[in-house]
Amino acid sequence: MYISLIIYFCVFTQNTGDVNNYQNILLLSVDTLRADHLSCYGYEYPTSPNIDKLAEKGIVFDNCIAEVPLTCPSFSSMFTSKFPRTIGVTRNGLGISEDDISITELLKDNGYFTFCVQSNWTLKAKLSGLKKGFDIYDDDFHVKRWGIFSSERIADEVTQKCIDIIKKLPKDKPFFGWVHYSDPHAPYHFRKRYNVHHEEKGRNNERRYKTVKSYDSEIRFTDEQIGILLKHIPENTAIIFVADHGESLYEHNYLGHGRKLYQNEVRIPLIIVSPKVKSGRTGMPVRGIDIGPTILGIANIQKCKSMLGMDVLNENINKERIRVIETYGGAVPKIPILRSLMKKSGPIMQAVIVENWKLIVKDNRKELYNIIEDPEEINNIAKKYPEKVLELHNIIKRWSIHTPVNTKKDGRKLSDEDLEVLRSMGYLE
Ligand SMILES: [Zn+2]
Repeated sequence: MYISLIIYFCVFTQNTGDVNNYQNILLLSVDTLRADHLSCYGYEYPTSPNIDKLAEKGIVFDNCIAEVPLTCPSFSSMFTSKFPRTIGVTRNGLGISEDDISITELLKDNGYFTFCVQSNWTLKAKLSGLKKGFDIYDDDFHVKRWGIFSSERIADEVTQKCIDIIKKLPKDKPFFGWVHYSDPHAPYHFRKRYNVHHEEKGRNNERRYKTVKSYDSEIRFTDEQIGILLKHIPENTAIIFVADHGESLYEHNYLGHGRKLYQNEVRIPLIIVSPKVKSGRTGMPVRGIDIGPTILGIANIQKCKSMLGMDVLNENINKERIRVIETYGGAVPKIPILRSLMKKSGPIMQAVIVENWKLIVKDNRKELYNIIEDPEEINNIAKKYPEKVLELHNIIKRWSIHTPVNTKKDGRKLSDEDLEVLRSMGYLE
């Protein structure tokens, strides 16, 4: 009742009730996909011919960052348009509460048929709470592979599930669909048929070479499945293509995501294709919390006042926009009371990006980078520019004070299966 009232008061729709005025919307996401490993973002290998075609038709955002390099917290921010700490979803294994309004609920309330095809265990309805507002939330993948529960559903099954749903969609409603692929998530399997590295370049670092080769083959495989899926998507559909976070591929001595805030983990692709949008590229500074309001904007639904992001297609975003991000680490303890207590512990790392400048703070260590001149964040120039460090650090401190941490209890019970999978993914302490 309470939620319905909130939805009633915060929604103003310009839709007239005529089905022809509505537009289908597809949120197409790929887990652990670095922007710079897609050809349309300048990658030297042909990993993404089908995503590139989307890029040619839409707007490519060159400067989009995830709120946090973790799956469930990142998507929870997109769907609620709030920061992970604001909704208390700072780690995988924690989920959004009934009080937090998801854009899916608003879309459904405004006449959309809503469906989701899921592929990552941490996004299962019971764990993430993201099912709110979905008519169909297909997260049924209890398959055991190699003796353990598979933490992900493979791309060809995701595509087929989605095609099956599309064939049976109600004819009298537009749809909002969320289709999530997870194949580039570790462990990466080398898919020989999808190998894009046909030369010896990079072999001087054999460990990294093998990892990148496998990771890229998973991207190419996913891209092919996306190409198959897109053939079944009706023409009058706006497509938002995005990733939840990137991946560190041994840069900064780290393989994975969740524990650091370098660009390889937080810079994500964002491509929007819509009949209302002219194709092109933009360097506008955008972020995860903008995804929700942008989707609402495409549907002509006004965002809630509590939503913190911007509609990137209709609002003016300053190039000096301040973007503070943080990470709390990957793992969640299995005991509910410890999970609730953990919500009170602070982030392990914070960062702020303002134009070309990026400051990363961990304990007393500060790293300053010019991410345009040094996109790989190799040269820490903190000592050279102490005043800039002070200015940016003060921004982080102010943001932290004015953005309270949600410490509501998380009573969610993790099943034995959940624990097994989270442990296998490295998300259990
Ligand atoms: Zn993820």
